[in-house]
Amino acid sequence: MKFQSYTLNNFKNIPQINKLSPGQIEAIEVVGNVLPFKTNNYVVNELIDWDNLDTDPIFKLTFPQKGMLSQEHYDLMKIVLDQTNYTDTIKNVANIIRNELNPHPAGQIEHNIPVLNGEILSGMQHKYRETLLFFPSQGQTCHAYCTFCFRWPQFVGMDQLKFAGKESSHLKDYVLRNKQITDILFTGGDPMIMKAKVFASYIEPLLEAKPENLQTIRIGTKALGYWPYKFVTDHDANEYLNLFERVVLSGINLSIMAHFSHPKELETSVVKTAIKRLRSVGVQIRTQSPVLKHINDTPEIWAEMWRKQVNLNCIPYYMFIPRDTGAQDYFAVTLENAWQIFRGAYQKVSGVCRTVRGPSMSCTPGKVQVLGVSEIKGEKVFVLRMLQGRNPDWVARPFFAEYNKDAIWMDELKPAFGEQKFFFEDELELIFDEHVTDDEIENFE
Ligand SMILES: *Cc1c(COP(=O)(O)O)cnc(C)c1O
Ligand code: SF4
Repeated sequence: MKFQSYTLNNFKNIPQINKLSPGQIEAIEVVGNVLPFKTNNYVVNELIDWDNLDTDPIFKLTFPQKGMLSQEHYDLMKIVLDQTNYTDTIKNVANIIRNELNPHPAGQIEHNIPVLNGEILSGMQHKYRETLLFFPSQGQTCHAYCTFCFRWPQFVGMDQLKFAGKESSHLKDYVLRNKQITDILFTGGDPMIMKAKVFASYIEPLLEAKPENLQTIRIGTKALGYWPYKFVTDHDANEYLNLFERVVLSGINLSIMAHFSHPKELETSVVKTAIKRLRSVGVQIRTQSPVLKHINDTPEIWAEMWRKQVNLNCIPYYMFIPRDTGAQDYFAVTLENAWQIFRGAYQKVSGVCRTVRGPSMSCTPGKVQVLGVSEIKGEKVFVLRMLQGRNPDWVARPFFAEYNKDAIWMDELKPAFGEQKFFFEDELELIFDEHVTDDEIENFE
């Protein structure tokens, strides 16, 4: 199958275009000039049900919808598009609106950039002791864009992420030097947008150097959801499988962190084939997704998704809470609702699906799981805990926040029982005040 992408420039060539109402086309043009828009022929022909667009989850997952901008922003962009063709004018207005959409949630990347021999290693993030995030420069786009994605500023060219030229040797050197790292997590964009040869250029040095601390290579990707042909009919599909097999045979666990947001993404014959092929060379597949209004905000959908995943030999891993950026009003569910959806789904499945953890917010101190709403001595509270923490000692300690029925993110929560701070806050400030030097990294080893 040949890959064909559709964006704002060519979406009118989609064969099903006459199924869209004038209002839907207008919404794509108006919203698509502010937020990124990209889909492809697999999503269009095999995932979307064009006869039920009003409720179709994959349509909403990849095509801009009117409700993704506020009325005010929508009207402003529409007036501009009605009145001018000047791309500079359109861009300027788009950027004004973008800046009002909280383009830098959590604002934490600058706190986690590793340093080697005095050199800042851009393209990497080292937030949790065991796991190094790696952003290969050629993996900064995706086979289609999710309309909720917190990385949208990067896709519309607002964030110019910088990547080091010698990044593959930096990766290897940093892992060799920092023995506490057991996992490298390739992320993006979508690293599986890369050709096998390019991906191999990052993997080969690791296989040669074989850092004894390196136990798992993870790849965060939505290729199984948006372009499963990657592992089936693409010209380098077999080259990819061979490379993966070599990683596994070398004794390193290879895990694909597959992003699936709806059971529909697990139903085509090509995704099933892709999963089988990956599993046949020993690749593990773990699954994750945010919980999203209009897409997957019922327990039934999640229970069905986890069951289908397990039946296809995948391991449910995380349910995330979407970050407070971009089209958040369209997608956000409250923390309480997210927990109810998780709990409802978890109750419907057997233990084999209960490897999943969530709902979880990736915020500054760590990954915070909403364990639920409870009442302690007459006070209604959120019970929380960290699944991952900037300080490993914070992990798996229950803590409490005042109940807030409208809260959608951690920054809206206050400590319960009249306390001034959450237990980790003083230490977090200390971590941020420290200037991490190369010497300190030496001391880590
Ligand atoms: C989630 C995440 C990881 C991986 O955490 P695990 O709990 O090991 O899955 C690593 N780095 C960052 C920044 C993350 O958000
Ligand atoms: S595939 Fe991943 S990185 Fe790409 S748009 Fe979707 S969520 Fe964002």
